[in-house]
Amino acid sequence: MFRHGLRTLVGRLCLGAGCLLPLVASAHLHIQVTHGAGGWRLFLFDFESGEADPAVASLQVREAARAAVPNAPAYTQLLGAAGGPVWVLPQLENANLLYLGLGSQGIAPGAFQNNALRLVLKSVTGPGHFAIYTTDAFGNPQVRMNTRDGVSDTADFYPLAAVGGHEHCNWAFSAPGVYRVAFAAEGTLAGGQFTQSAPVIFTFVVFPTLAEAPRLAAPQVEADGRVAFDLISAVGTSVEVWTSPDLKNWAKAKDALPATVPARVKLDAVAGQQLFLKVRRP
Ligand SMILES: [Zn+2]
Repeated sequence: MFRHGLRTLVGRLCLGAGCLLPLVASAHLHIQVTHGAGGWRLFLFDFESGEADPAVASLQVREAARAAVPNAPAYTQLLGAAGGPVWVLPQLENANLLYLGLGSQGIAPGAFQNNALRLVLKSVTGPGHFAIYTTDAFGNPQVRMNTRDGVSDTADFYPLAAVGGHEHCNWAFSAPGVYRVAFAAEGTLAGGQFTQSAPVIFTFVVFPTLAEAPRLAAPQVEADGRVAFDLISAVGTSVEVWTSPDLKNWAKAKDALPATVPARVKLDAVAGQQLFLKVRRP
C-alpha cells in the first residue's frame, strides 16, 4: 500500500524567530519507531527520499488542510466549536497534503510483550491545540491524543504493532503557526522490563503563518449594504484594509486583528459605487 512518486517539496521558511528547517510536503511520510541493540530511535521516513532527522526537517500543514469542525458532539469535544477552523492532515490520502502515518520497523518479533508498542505524546508547544484521531467507517472519531484535556502518558498514546506495518490517522491543529510536538516510544520487553525512549520533537508548520502575505477572499455585499470579505492571515497580527473607488486613490479603511482564519471583515460602502479592496501588513 505504500505509494511512491509523490512530489516532495522542500523549501525554507523564515519567521520572526528565525529560519526553520526545510519543509516536507505532499509526500507519504511516517514517524517511524524502531528499537534494537542501540535502544530506541524515532525519526521521519519519507517513501521518496528516505530517512530524515526530525531535528532538521519540519512537516508542512498547508492551507488546503483547513476544514470546519463538524457539528457533532464527538467532534466539538475533540476539536472545538462547530464551524470553527481546524487544520487536518487526513487519515485518507489527499494528493495536496502530507500523508503522514506512524510506522514501526526493524524490531525483532517477540522482542516486546504481545509485540505491542505505544507512541506517547509528551508535550506540545504551539499557538493552539493538537490532536490525533482515527475515523471509523461511520465517520466517528476515535481519539488517540488530544491536548485539550492536558497531556499524559496514560491518555495520550497511539498503539503500534512492534512487527512492522503502518498506521494512518488524522493530525489536527486548531490554529495556524508552528507546533513542536514531542513523542516518545514505550513498551514492555519480553523479559518484563518497561522501556520508554527519550522524547523526540517533531515540528509542524501550519499555514498561513506570518511568513505569508495576508489575502482576502469571498467578498460580497451584505443585506445591510456593507461589504464583507474573508481575511486570510496569521492570527493575532494586525492587517490594514485599504479601499479605492478607482484603483488609483487608496485610503486605509480599517485595521483588522484576525482572531480566526479566515476572519470575516465588514466595511461600510456607498450604495451603487464600486469598491476595490486590498490588505497588507502595516
Ligand atoms: Zn503509510
